[in-house]
Amino acid sequence: MTNIPSNVQAYYNGAFLPLDQVSISPFDRGFLFGDGVYEVIVSYDSKPFYLDQHMERLERSLKFCRIAPQQDMTEIVEALFEKNRHLGNHLACYLQISRGVDYPRQHQHSSNVEPTIFGYCFAPVIKSFEDKKTGLSLKTVADIRWLHCDIKAITLLPNGLAKQQAIDLGYDDALQIREGEVKETSSGNIFFVKQNTLYTPESDNEILHGVTRKLLSEIAKAEALELVERKIFTEELTEFTGAFLCSTISEITPITQIDEYVYSLNEDLYTRLHLAFNALK
Ligand code: PLP
Repeated sequence: MTNIPSNVQAYYNGAFLPLDQVSISPFDRGFLFGDGVYEVIVSYDSKPFYLDQHMERLERSLKFCRIAPQQDMTEIVEALFEKNRHLGNHLACYLQISRGVDYPRQHQHSSNVEPTIFGYCFAPVIKSFEDKKTGLSLKTVADIRWLHCDIKAITLLPNGLAKQQAIDLGYDDALQIREGEVKETSSGNIFFVKQNTLYTPESDNEILHGVTRKLLSEIAKAEALELVERKIFTEELTEFTGAFLCSTISEITPITQIDEYVYSLNEDLYTRLHLAFNALK
């Protein structure tokens, strides 16, 4: 059995308690139907990083799903970071809100169901600037997700299967392709490099509108790079000279291979982007 740490403080429906003491009903609709949404936020030196942007996205996800918790999500995240300071200087907070416990199991939900709120912190395992220079390899896989990938829903079965498929074939991660168009990896957004321009898939309902993606777009502009948001087709993959993945946990990571195409590291560009990103912390 997996060991759940007892030195981590969790939040569960109004109370803070050790993580290993949280237990949830099997009739929680998050468990039975994947009926819920989540956010992952990091803190650097005890300062939550772009918390407002994560909370705005959470608000949009909750609204779309018509889940309306009464508690203040920002307060919960801040309290979790505070109560878990002993875990390290760089922490991640996972916050999940499901529709709640409802019986009997049925597709529609009762009108009086109370949302289940669960959160905890962990010290993310993140590669150093130097180690990331090895670059990630991606395997293109069919994007079999629903049509609202812009909602940060807990239903991550397709993402998990895509990543496992890539790993089983010897790659680090999957690059999801929908009808010939590049979308995103299993848990991060993607940027491509060609000369002085960064290209990233447009922010529609088929990708998550990443907080890091937005930051990287702003950094690109500040660094006098041209930024193009548009459809990117698989036939174009050989025309780019480099690529980067970005997410809250992995920050900015170079991609050096997609299927059999090998990209250069673009070390100067990577260093510039990395330094500019670090300056935001
Ligand atoms: N795309 C997917 C599918 C993700 O799961 C994530 C993060 O978890 C991202 C993109 C990156 O989003 P963010 O930068 O807000 O972490």
